[in-house]
Amino acid sequence: MNFDLVVKNGVVYTEQGFYKLNVGVQGEKIAVLADPAVPLEGARVIDAQGKYVLPGFIDCHCHLRDPGLTQKEDFYTGTMAAAHSGITMVCPQPNVKPVPNTLADYREEVQAGQARAVIDFNPIGCPLGTAQDVTEIAQEGSAWFKLFEKVATYPYNTTAGTLDTHRIYEAFRAVAATGRYCSVHPFDKYFFDAAVEQIKAEGKPITLENVRHMWYSDEEMTGAAYQLSYYAKKAGMKWYAMHAWMPGYIDLVRMLKERGEMTIVSSFEYMPAMDASDEIYDIAGGKYIYLNHDAKPDKAKIWAAIRDGVIDMIGSDHAPHAPNEYKSDDALHTGAGFAMLDYFGHLLVSHVNEGDLSLEKLVEVTSVNFAKAFGMYPRKGSNVVGSDADFTIVDLNREWVISEQDKVYTKTQTIPYVGRKMHGAVTGTVVRGRVVMENGEVFGEPGYGKFVTAENSK
Ligand SMILES: [Zn+2]
Repeated sequence: MNFDLVVKNGVVYTEQGFYKLNVGVQGEKIAVLADPAVPLEGARVIDAQGKYVLPGFIDCHCHLRDPGLTQKEDFYTGTMAAAHSGITMVCPQPNVKPVPNTLADYREEVQAGQARAVIDFNPIGCPLGTAQDVTEIAQEGSAWFKLFEKVATYPYNTTAGTLDTHRIYEAFRAVAATGRYCSVHPFDKYFFDAAVEQIKAEGKPITLENVRHMWYSDEEMTGAAYQLSYYAKKAGMKWYAMHAWMPGYIDLVRMLKERGEMTIVSSFEYMPAMDASDEIYDIAGGKYIYLNHDAKPDKAKIWAAIRDGVIDMIGSDHAPHAPNEYKSDDALHTGAGFAMLDYFGHLLVSHVNEGDLSLEKLVEVTSVNFAKAFGMYPRKGSNVVGSDADFTIVDLNREWVISEQDKVYTKTQTIPYVGRKMHGAVTGTVVRGRVVMENGEVFGEPGYGKFVTAENSK
């Protein structure tokens, strides 16, 4: 039999373990997994000798800025960058314009993806419309919902009103009726505002340097998260604990999981904190992020929580801004976050070799757990006959250093990790049978990416 694509000689991830297998793909699906002694003929053949063939990585948290904020990024450039990292599907977060609060606005974002994405996607809806809007967005296929606790408008505008308990609870009840999850960026806006007032009272300018250390303490984020877990419990809604990287927050979700109250947890969404040197936080003009200097993530604790299953998924929090949107002298109007996607997958692979997590665990937190949580398994997150032929091909032996000369596909053309020593790389990305990246070169076709719905997400 002649296949459309054959991936041969690789060590393939299966639910039973890693096995050397040849994979035959027909159209968009895996058609056969064969003993390597069985030669398979293919119109296109990838020799994965010495490499691992993993189910495609899925990024549960990124910001692609499309529609409406495409000076920062768009579905084409953002998904090209993702493909460079071995990512086969992305979940763009809802701080776009218009915010996907209604079915019409949600569809506008889906259409932007259908026009420009080179890999699969599922935009995350925002539950701040009416209960009817929330129901319609869920029925359309949004994997879950997200809001930001800080403010009532999203994309956030620090001068807008606070989302109070009543409004969050109302949104949670609407999401509960759909059976979907809702994630919330935990935050206590009171202390955010109070810090600004205090600096003003001292007669100082509201620069990042002046206020940053007063925002985002562990207790503030963890306390907000505990409240959210209570609102969710009371509303009968499944809470998706997002941004679980502060030490207290990790203790909290561990406790809630032990009580049987917790659902799913994701972390990182802050890879910079895991990989960048401290100087990155201090570089203005394009490379800083919001982070309280006095409350840095405890890297060892995060890795331990990933290894023991408290953290279910890892997201990139790719959050680029145009260079002129970084204003370190105006902390209330600056962009926060930076471009992560080009090297995210490579960094994760390097962490396997650095002993932070096993290859099997990497597959779970980047693919399997996501697909299971959001009703896409085994179509996604699985290497079995009949599932989508999404592969992330990994070379654990490649030693290299990220350099200025390396490829960058993100619109801002920035690499936060120049100089980072790498122990392993993603060498291939296959999306539904099509080779989208090979050896660092992305061959993306705008519009190839499909809107993958969360049919059975419960
Ligand atoms: Zn984010």
